[in-house]
Amino acid sequence: MNVNWRNLELPESFGAERNIPLSELTSFRVGGPARVVLHPRSYEAIAEIVSLAKQYGVPLALLGRGTNVLASDRGYDGWIIRFDTPLHEPVCHGTSVTVCCGTSMTSLARETVRKGLSGMECLCGIPGTVGGACAMNAGAYGGEIRQILKRIRILKDGRDEWIDVKDGDLGYRRSVFSFPDAIALEAAFELKEDDGTAAETMLRCMEKRKEKQPLDVPSAGSTFKRPEGYFAGALIEQCGLKGFSIGGAQVSPKHAGFIVNANRATEADISALIEHVRRVVKEQTGVTLEPEVKRI
Ligand SMILES: Cc1cc2nc3c(=O)[nH]c(=O)nc-3n(C[C@H](O)[C@H](O)[C@H](O)COP(=O)(O)OP(=O)(O)OC[C@H]3O[C@@H](n4cnc5c(N)ncnc54)[C@H](O)[C@@H]3O)c2cc1C
Repeated sequence: MNVNWRNLELPESFGAERNIPLSELTSFRVGGPARVVLHPRSYEAIAEIVSLAKQYGVPLALLGRGTNVLASDRGYDGWIIRFDTPLHEPVCHGTSVTVCCGTSMTSLARETVRKGLSGMECLCGIPGTVGGACAMNAGAYGGEIRQILKRIRILKDGRDEWIDVKDGDLGYRRSVFSFPDAIALEAAFELKEDDGTAAETMLRCMEKRKEKQPLDVPSAGSTFKRPEGYFAGALIEQCGLKGFSIGGAQVSPKHAGFIVNANRATEADISALIEHVRRVVKEQTGVTLEPEVKRI
């Protein structure tokens, strides 16, 4: 029997919504309609979604808070799992913290500092989920997920299991726990006791962000990875591209490493600007910039 997945009745535990603009689900605020967005209410529901999608050949994507994603103007004809809500409270034993990957990274960092723990203070202000941070090995101001992530519960090849994190599982803005290879469900971190400086360090990191980054304009953070030996923002600025626009997309006048949605940009505007920046930087400096943002 040939079943059209678009007509499938979905269980309540999937939390399905239909025809949701991707511009509402991503921090860049661009993107056309997603046919189905799922807000799973349990880890079991996530596993069921993956298995049903495979069975019926449904295109599947995964979003946390959509803060590192550029979504297509054409939208997404498939299911998008939106895993951006914690399914339970963090569990703390001494310096070990275990948390649902739908938890906000910034709230978790704040909470650990409040509890007298150190290790996440530099990650405060990264606006995604813990799952997105593990997938991207997010980092800032000298702190990085790989320094503190010890065990992770992943859904991979139909198996739901806890595994020890090994050297090499996470690298610069990449990890082997990233969708579509895996879905990170829970993460276990090993922190340290605060020596009395964590709150101040956290505050300093947040202030630096406010001072240097265009936080009042939609973006996906740094558009490009840091090329070895350089800073993407400095190279872009050196090429005279700071403030340069295509359509509603602009190289931020505040921080050239950020492409921002300055005025009702489309994905096409942002993509054209990314390509323009890459071309000019390559021509003028010989350095190839690789986008950090993921596509959907
Ligand atoms: C203003 C601003 C500042 C930022 N500053 C920083 C910074 O300082 N440092 C930094 O590293 N990043 C930064 N970012 C980028 C972004 O916030 C991080 O990459 C963040 O960790 C992404 O989390 P997310 O939940 O939004 O993931 P999404 O953007 O939703 O997803 C990113 C990728 O991870 C995958 N993914 C998401 N959740 C999971 C999961 N549970 N399991 C497996 N794969 C998953 C997605 O499929 C996608 O490929 C910034 C972004 C903005 C907008």
